[in-house]
Amino acid sequence: HPLPYIRCILVLVAYLHTKHHLSFRACALLLQALNFVFRTIPGKLLGNQEMPRTLVTVFSQLGLSDKFKIYPICYLCNRIFTESDGFSLCPTCKVDLYRSQSRRLFNRLFAVDVLGDNDDDSDSDGGDDFGYRSNRTAHLVQPIQLLSDALRDLLTRPGMVDAVNAWKRRPIVAGELKSIHDANVWKTIQGPDGTSFFFGRGARDEIRLGLSLSLDWFGKKTSSYGPSHSSGALSFCVQNFENEIR
Ligand SMILES: [Zn+2]
Repeated sequence: HPLPYIRCILVLVAYLHTKHHLSFRACALLLQALNFVFRTIPGKLLGNQEMPRTLVTVFSQLGLSDKFKIYPICYLCNRIFTESDGFSLCPTCKVDLYRSQSRRLFNRLFAVDVLGDNDDDSDSDGGDDFGYRSNRTAHLVQPIQLLSDALRDLLTRPGMVDAVNAWKRRPIVAGELKSIHDANVWKTIQGPDGTSFFFGRGARDEIRLGLSLSLDWFGKKTSSYGPSHSSGALSFCVQNFENEIR
């Protein structure tokens, strides 16, 4: 937004939502009230500019939109489906992937939250159903960001190309192991042509990324939402970076 004091408000609203869980509707109410105040008090504080009136627009203007896509999955076998698959039943488990339309229509008509699962307070301009743009609501969804998409986003940021090549300029001291770049795996791992991946032919002039995959899992818990569940974090790391930014 071109007006700095409006930008401050947008950041504040986004912060209130992410840190203090102010709902989408409450954020919209706040934005619309401020919009009304700015338009009615003398001084034309908004000039000819429009001020966002929903949290989704705020996220969009601040570039805080999600980087992942939402896919429906089977709630029994967890198979992932895409819209182009054309499935409405899991072919293995024979269960519906989507909730019935009638219940949704009933909910819309009478604003009844039968299962208590519709408290995400979605905005009127914010897509629907967890961002999955379809008329159908999946029983269970999965957010997914492909590694290739994440790497593309990463490398388009300013300074990233230099940062992933910076290890090539590190002085190597024999016998000192201060980084993954000093160790044997980095020095000896082979590329598809059988030569050293990081030191072989063409390696100096290309961006060659070393990725590691980490998995951490947390203990089983029980809650009112299910008999048991556990949580896991799966993360990729670009090992090319220096230790302090990796
Ligand atoms: Zn299934």
